[in-house]
Amino acid sequence: MGKAKSYKLDLVGVLGHPVAENPTVVMMEAAFRELRLPFSYLAIEVLPEGLGDAIRGVRAMGFKGVNLTIPHKVEVMRHLDEVTEKASLIGAVNTVYRVGDRLVGENTDGAGFLKSLQDDGGVDPRGGSFIVLGAGGASRAICVELSLAGAARIAIVNRDEGRGRAEYIAWEPGLRLPEGFGVLVNATSVGLYPDPGKPDIDYGSVRSGMTVCDVIPNPPRSAFLREAESRGASCLDGLGMLVNQGTIGFELWTGEKAPSAAMRAALEREFRAE
Ligand code: NDP
Repeated sequence: MGKAKSYKLDLVGVLGHPVAENPTVVMMEAAFRELRLPFSYLAIEVLPEGLGDAIRGVRAMGFKGVNLTIPHKVEVMRHLDEVTEKASLIGAVNTVYRVGDRLVGENTDGAGFLKSLQDDGGVDPRGGSFIVLGAGGASRAICVELSLAGAARIAIVNRDEGRGRAEYIAWEPGLRLPEGFGVLVNATSVGLYPDPGKPDIDYGSVRSGMTVCDVIPNPPRSAFLREAESRGASCLDGLGMLVNQGTIGFELWTGEKAPSAAMRAALEREFRAE
């Protein structure tokens, strides 16, 4: 007798508001297809007042895990059984996974960035000097990860000092970058599709030999990176970070090695189609 057929899918997904334009579903579904895994990734609209119930639902319905996006990354922490040390340092969770009946919160954004910096950019963060534009969630995740990896100097440029920490540089329009930094990171939301803009800095102060990174995944070749490239900098797009943070979640949920090339190709197809 043959094995009984199972129609059950393992569930994962992203909880957010708004969530309709979140591209993670495309990347994750491509990964499940590539490895023929019986998983489904759902984009679920959850209002702030429904977050507690949604997490109880995740638990009750046996989800293998979820991603969190705006506006739930901080608030979700009080609904979980455990938060990793890194996520609590960053103060936000973007990935939840299950250990038995326990829901554990992790933050994979900074690790995704770091992997792209090391593997795609060939940059060793140890002893390096970093200047980071923006002081929001993505910036915090990146700065914590860089500190843990041994960066010697991290300066944060922001419009509002309250949000800037470590070494703070006030953001004046057309900001001239100070000398002595090897890596420049745009961790603001400026330039995310459909915004064609770029951070308001003096691009003449980007030196050739710098590594310049953008967190913006869409468009991958942002106006910021095009400007930096024309000054002779080596550039890393936000797609690498997005794929890398996704591969960590994928591996926590499925126990399988993530097919990162298929994940990146699916996102590139998606963004070209826009
Ligand atoms: P937040 O809202 O937490 O932070 C946004 C930051 O951008 C703030 O510091 C804000 O400054 C700054 N900012 C916004 N507009 C301007 C402007 N016109 N000039 C200067 N600074 C500005 O967002 P997140 O940190 O969560 O996300 C930021 C971006 O990172 C998003 O576009 C998101 O798509 C991307 N991201 C990419 C990931 C990836 O895997 N590639 C992962 C996570 C995020 P102020 O404090 O002054 O308001």
